[in-house]
Parts: sequence; structure tokens; C-alpha cells
Amino acid sequence: MMRWRRTREHDPERFSAEYVSGEMAGGLRRWFERHLLDCDDCWREVLLGRFGRRIAEDAREPVPVGLRDRVRAAVALSSGGGLPPPA
Ligand SMILES: [Zn+2]
Repeated sequence: MMRWRRTREHDPERFSAEYVSGEMAGGLRRWFERHLLDCDDCWREVLLGRFGRRIAEDAREPVPVGLRDRVRAAVALSSGGGLPPPA
């Protein structure tokens, strides 16, 4: 069944990383794209993944330590502050 939604155990960091990198394929990708509409955690991770990936590609070097947290904070601020702070 494909009724994962929020009830299915999801892994925002792993799923979003695979989605952004293009490794996610087929049914899982289609499911994830629908899931993104309902899941703030996964949506935020995808935004972070795309942002971080672009920075990394621009710099042509690994994302520096600490950048992820700063990006996370920036996304939280730009989204209106409606999201809970990172754990
Ligand atoms: Zn999710």
C-alpha cells in the first residue's frame, strides 16, 4: 500500500537527500513528491538540500561544518517562523 503519509515512518534527511540528488526513483519518488505537500519536515529538508547543494557546487568543495545549521536557521526565518526550532 502507498498510504504512508505521516503515519508511515519516514526519514526526512535520507529521503530528501536521495530526492535532491536524483537517486530516488519510480514509485517512491512519486510518493515522496506527494508526501512533501503534507510534511513540513521533509519539505524543509528538500529546501535545505537544494540550497546546500547549490552552494557546494558553486564553491566546488564540501559544505563547511556549521553551514547546515545556518541554512536551517535561515529557512526557518524565511518561512515566517511558523516551524519549530531544530531539535
Ligand atoms: Zn516526511
